[in-house]
Amino acid sequence: MSPAPPLPPEQRKVLRQALTDAVSYRDPPAHCRACEALDGLCDECAAGLAHARAYLALGRELGMEVPP
Ligand SMILES: [Zn+2]
Repeated sequence: MSPAPPLPPEQRKVLRQALTDAVSYRDPPAHCRACEALDGLCDECAAGLAHARAYLALGRELGMEVPP
């Protein structure tokens, strides 16, 4: 895949906000009964985490500063 062309600052700002929102929406909840019962990540939270990681990876690919 070729690198994405740089975005204008205004679009970067919006995209960054969108990514931040998407990641916080997908972040597994601090307390999930299914996870507690499993003593790990339940299927739903694991899927959510995978989405969040994909969003962050995309942000990095677009040259955005995202948390590790
Ligand atoms: Zn869970």
